[in-house]
Amino acid sequence: MKEECIVQNVGVEEVVMKNLYELCSAKNLTKGSLVPTKPRGSGNTKKKGTKRGRSVDNEEAGGYKPRLSISRSKSLDMDDQPQTKKKKVNELKPVKKILPSEFPQEMFEGKDLDPSTPEDMNGIYTPDGHFPAEGDDETSPLVEGDQYQKRIPIPADGNFYLCAVCGLEVEERVCCKKCPRSYHKKCLEKSQLAASTSNDTSAEASEKKMACKRCEDDLQVYPDEDINAGVNNIPNDEKEKVQKAYKEWGEEGSFTFNSLILCELLQILSKLSEYDYGELFIAPVDTNMITDYLKTIRTPMDYGTIISKLEKGEYSPPSSEEKDGEMDAMEEIVLYALKDILQVYHNCLMYNPKGGMYHRAGEVQARKWNAYYSKHIADRISPSIAAGLTKFEKSCEIERQSVFKPRQFNAKTGFNGSSRALAVFDPDTKKIVKMYTSKATARAAVLLLHNSGYESGWDLKNSNAKSRIDSAKDPEKTLFGYQWIPIDELKGGDFKLKKKDEEEAAVKPMLSKDVVILKDDTLTKKVQGFVSEEEAFADWSMEMKGSLNINVDDNLSDFIKQYLDGDKTINGISYRRVESEKTKDEPMAENNDKGEEMGHKSKESLDV
Ligand SMILES: [Zn+2]
Ligand SMILES: [Zn+2]
Repeated sequence: MKEECIVQNVGVEEVVMKNLYELCSAKNLTKGSLVPTKPRGSGNTKKKGTKRGRSVDNEEAGGYKPRLSISRSKSLDMDDQPQTKKKKVNELKPVKKILPSEFPQEMFEGKDLDPSTPEDMNGIYTPDGHFPAEGDDETSPLVEGDQYQKRIPIPADGNFYLCAVCGLEVEERVCCKKCPRSYHKKCLEKSQLAASTSNDTSAEASEKKMACKRCEDDLQVYPDEDINAGVNNIPNDEKEKVQKAYKEWGEEGSFTFNSLILCELLQILSKLSEYDYGELFIAPVDTNMITDYLKTIRTPMDYGTIISKLEKGEYSPPSSEEKDGEMDAMEEIVLYALKDILQVYHNCLMYNPKGGMYHRAGEVQARKWNAYYSKHIADRISPSIAAGLTKFEKSCEIERQSVFKPRQFNAKTGFNGSSRALAVFDPDTKKIVKMYTSKATARAAVLLLHNSGYESGWDLKNSNAKSRIDSAKDPEKTLFGYQWIPIDELKGGDFKLKKKDEEEAAVKPMLSKDVVILKDDTLTKKVQGFVSEEEAFADWSMEMKGSLNINVDDNLSDFIKQYLDGDKTINGISYRRVESEKTKDEPMAENNDKGEEMGHKSKESLDV
């Protein structure tokens, strides 16, 4: 959403960059010099339920701002051919804000030293003096052990943007708190009516149901979504297919029985793929797009891979030396397949931050899997398989905990109440998200974050961390997406706010001469250009696939009719033709307003 563009090295380069920037803005950034970003659609947003989304903003706002590529030897002639992207140290480096909860705790003798007060936490700070945030008049005191950061809701929206009933964009969303589904009010009411006729009709019960009926659906397998289970129900050709694939192990006593379980797993996986958010888990995560994925995830896994391994007989038991325990080959194979299924959820929950939509989508699928598992599989696997699976689940849990364990470092001394505390300030919400007792401990926090792999936006070293913190007072030189401001200066109004026009200016560059279609994402505030209808359509399809309950069979001509020539939007994203150089600004501006309303306006929450 509002990522900061940060110049890596200060000095000449930065000046050049700034000039270029101004020049671009002045010329309205219509051609040359600015390299159009690669179509971002597919990768960033709706990709496979795996966006790490360590950013504070919407998880799906994964896109990056365009990189400016400059060459000092060349003149800054705007009519130049677009220059090729060069990976240079001095490029603008886009950085996402990290989640407030990721800031390390400063510990002293087992206590979190965070010197912030409830007022700090609830205050909005501007140079004119801070004032309480709207609706935040109840400033409850921080209790012992109450983590300051945890009190800040994750600004990332934990719900997808399309209605879970009709699949269309929702203007006034009703969001379920437990799952990532959002609804049109009307759609929700309709589906509730259907639900309340089934059993309890009391006002109380139906009120409760207003929560989200689909959450209940996650926990069970209804007859119409059930699989063909049992030896007599599974079609013979399916049985034969699997048995053929695993015929090598045909001598094993448990062959018939366990190959049947493999058949059922195949069916369950296909049902899960069709169930809500299942499409996010069908294919492997594109690690070219999500480049840090493998830093966190050691064993990528997805439904499609498991299905293929099952069908092709690619699961095999460990070699006889490695083998321990009393499982026979087919039991080992079943265990492997079951582990792989759990791995899919584990990866999703591990990579994506808790409370975010992808994490919650993973939870939905995991719950549904559990429903199938308890109904069809749990009672039939051997105790050894069950034990192996439990062991695996435990190890996953431990691994996840290790990821989510708050980072801590030990301060050498306790907080002496001096005013040299340093506030980590969100330039967008104008709120403090974290405080450290001194610049020295802030430095420790910064380095810890850096060493944990978070992007600060700078080439950070032990030696320059302090000066980076000093410059991070400036909204244009944020660290990890935040301003770092001494608390007395913050309270005294002695700091700069992020400028709005800078933000807008930064969004616009990217249009080369060839661009015929603009994609305007009002949620991420990004504009992207496409050189053909087909290219835009491909991008649109990716956006659609990432959304839910939607039929992506629509074809190019529908896309053109409804989006390019019509007013339809998806997730606050609109696609427009570039009319001409002169008229371009108008529709875009108009668009912006509209999208703003769609994406963010009035969103209600339900208690579940
Ligand atoms: Zn709807
Ligand atoms: Zn729900």
